Amino acid sequence: MADLTLVPSAVLLADAARRAVVNDTLVVSARVRLVQPHDPTATPHLLGADRLEVRVHGLSDLDDTAWSALCSVTDDDVTPLVPVLTLVASQLHADVVIDGAVCPVAALGATKATVQYQAWWGWPAVKVRSARDAEPQSLTGGRGLFFSRGLDSTAVLLAATSAGDGPSHLVGLDWVDPPFDIAEHADVWRATSSAAAEWGLPLVRVSTNARTFIDPLVSWDFSHVPVLAATALALTGVVDRVGLASTHPAGHQVPFASHPDLDPLWSSASVSIDHRLDVPSGRTARAGVLASSPWAARWLAVCWEQSAEGNCGHCRKCLITMCSLWLVGAAEILANRFGGDPDPGTIAALASATPLAGRGVTAEVARQLRSAAEGDTLGGLSVRKSREDRRLAAALADAWDLVLHRGVTLR
Ligand SMILES: [Zn+2]
Repeated sequence: MADLTLVPSAVLLADAARRAVVNDTLVVSARVRLVQPHDPTATPHLLGADRLEVRVHGLSDLDDTAWSALCSVTDDDVTPLVPVLTLVASQLHADVVIDGAVCPVAALGATKATVQYQAWWGWPAVKVRSARDAEPQSLTGGRGLFFSRGLDSTAVLLAATSAGDGPSHLVGLDWVDPPFDIAEHADVWRATSSAAAEWGLPLVRVSTNARTFIDPLVSWDFSHVPVLAATALALTGVVDRVGLASTHPAGHQVPFASHPDLDPLWSSASVSIDHRLDVPSGRTARAGVLASSPWAARWLAVCWEQSAEGNCGHCRKCLITMCSLWLVGAAEILANRFGGDPDPGTIAALASATPLAGRGVTAEVARQLRSAAEGDTLGGLSVRKSREDRRLAAALADAWDLVLHRGVTLR
């Protein structure tokens, strides 16, 4: 790929905008190119695929009201593409021009999001312009929640539901685009569908090829919220709000792709993006929310290292989660979803892996294990107190210290 950041005064142009229903799937798409508006002779740069697509699958599974609302949106309303186009443009120092209709709330919010990016990371602020304003859609009262079966979204679902504030729809991102369209992901999706059915809520399946455009420019850590927001904005007529489980605890947010100051900026007039903080702070406290849930013990899936359904039990994220679950006595989840209790030797083996991602979360769990080893309680959380358990807690804490600091002798 050419060094696109060196192209002066370039514009990220999205044209040939359209919404179409293809094989029971709503496809919102536009052709995307980096162009030189002041130099008609310059060759446009293609980015990723020829067309950026955001899709809502299984339209026939939606109720009639949602179906007709989805289909009543203007044919060239490509509001759902705005978050992804904006993130791509910010990486290319280009403004976004969309030859189609866009909700002005979404366009203005996306521009503000790049101002936030600039303040945090120095990425250039960009503007989002469209040929026409899209009409807002009537509200439905539906409330969605992104659901991946991970610890955060599972904890939000359980906590919100027990507080009488649960969603009406779960929203799941399926990986059907290269290079993620591998056979194992079909098993993962089937499991997510089964989990939702067992919980008793409809699961709306969404997908996008956005990563084809984004991954060469910025990592998933920074891009996942705009990508999820894009799929949420396609749910006009199905839900009015879609919740994203917060990554960081309340009061401890740091500049990140998911942040209470940033997530709502990806909203449109018809669909709001909510940063959900209605779960306790910290991974172990969230583990406590689902510790006694037999449903979570059947479906919890946190691992990004293995493609197949389930959890590998050996990666940092699995091992951090296992320690949190162990601290709160979630024996059934550990047995069913991770093959048993965390092992200090497996944790210590991470010491050779560099760099260590998620240092803050890792240090937090290490501190909690140390407290458990010393017989302290963890803010009211259930902590195992037998002598044998305290010995294991100490060994686990030592192992994490080894990973965090390298060179600490493992007991
Ligand atoms: Zn894993």
